[in-house]
Amino acid sequence: MSADQPATCPACQGVLVVLRTSAYTPERARLIVANGFCKGRCAELEAGEPTRAIIPVAVS
Ligand SMILES: [Zn+2]
Repeated sequence: MSADQPATCPACQGVLVVLRTSAYTPERARLIVANGFCKGRCAELEAGEPTRAIIPVAVS
């Protein structure tokens, strides 16, 4: 199972931030230009209740 399709936010259609540089494909780049980045927590905001979202953090 390869996830080579651009990960977009179902709420705002923005491109989700990913850590793997391999995910930055030309198609993804076009999506970023077209839709911009997801500001994050859209699902949380849509749900209308604060959830402890797991925010991807780069581990050094
Ligand atoms: Zn979003």
